[in-house]
Amino acid sequence: MRRAAAGLVLAAMELCAGERAPVTVFFAFEQEPPAVVFDAMRAEIQRLYSAVPLKFDWIRMQEAPEAGVLGEIVSVRFHGNCSLGGVPPLPDERGTLAWTSVTDGIVQLFSEVNCDRVRAAVYLALWGGERKRAQERLGVALGRVVAHEAYHIYWRTLKHAAGGVARHSLMPAELVAEKADLHPEDRAAQPKDQRD
Ligand SMILES: [Zn+2]
Repeated sequence: MRRAAAGLVLAAMELCAGERAPVTVFFAFEQEPPAVVFDAMRAEIQRLYSAVPLKFDWIRMQEAPEAGVLGEIVSVRFHGNCSLGGVPPLPDERGTLAWTSVTDGIVQLFSEVNCDRVRAAVYLALWGGERKRAQERLGVALGRVVAHEAYHIYWRTLKHAAGGVARHSLMPAELVAEKADLHPEDRAAQPKDQRD
C-alpha cells in the first residue's frame, strides 16, 4: 500500500568510518503494549538482522533528540491493540499488516503497523498450549513485520526477497513459526541512498 509521506523528518548523518551506526527506530503506540510484547519484538528484529550485522536503537517519537541521530532512521507507528492479553481477537479478513510510505517511487522512512490484524493472525495461527505464550509470540510476529518494513527502508527498495521475512507477504504460519530469517541473499546487500 502506498501513502504520501508526512510528519516527522529528522536529519540522518552518515558515519565517516566504515562501521555501521545502529538503525534508530522512532516509534509510537496508539495503545501501549505489555512489556513482554515490546521486548520480544525488539529481540526478534535484532536477531533477524544480526547476520547483516545491524543493531537497532528504539526511541519514542516524542523523545526524539532535536539534533537528530547518527545513522539510518526507521519510523514506526503502531495502530490498534498490540496485545493478546484481553478478549481474544475476532477473525479479521486478510489485509495489510503493515505498510511503508513511498513518494515518487522513493521509499520513505515511515512505516505503519496494524496491530489488530497482526494479533488476529497470530491468535488464529496458534494452537492449544501455544496460546499460553501468546503475548511473546505476538511480540515475535511484530518483530518480523517491522523487520520486513525496515528491509524496505534500510535498502531503499520496493522489491521483495525470494524468501524469509522480506518475502512479499508474511503468512500467519510464518509469523508464529519457530524459525524465521532474512533471505540469505539479502543479508549481504548494502544500503543504497536514493535521497540525494
Ligand atoms: Zn513489503
